[in-house]
Amino acid sequence: MLCRNCNHSKPNRPRGLCWTCYYTPGVRDRFPSTSKFARRGVGDFNGKAKLPASPTQAMPGSAEKVAILEERARLKVSLWHPLDAPFDAAGRRLSIAS
Ligand SMILES: [Zn+2]
Repeated sequence: MLCRNCNHSKPNRPRGLCWTCYYTPGVRDRFPSTSKFARRGVGDFNGKAKLPASPTQAMPGSAEKVAILEERARLKVSLWHPLDAPFDAAGRRLSIAS
């Protein structure tokens, strides 16, 4: 295995970089940590979260809904809103009507 940046030297610094690349300004930022202990993505937490500001009409499973879930996780609000569009909106209308 060689340095992920220069593909020349043996990596002896974290992130699979050689000493020279690791300490060259800017290089480290281009290579994310390879450690399994590193923080990646949005932080996790336990407990009650505030409700999102507004429900969404995006269908469950759609790319739009996934983007909304990502945004909610980033804002540390609850992923689910009780008035989010249900999987079968027609079924809910029927059950409310009856
Ligand atoms: Zn290197």
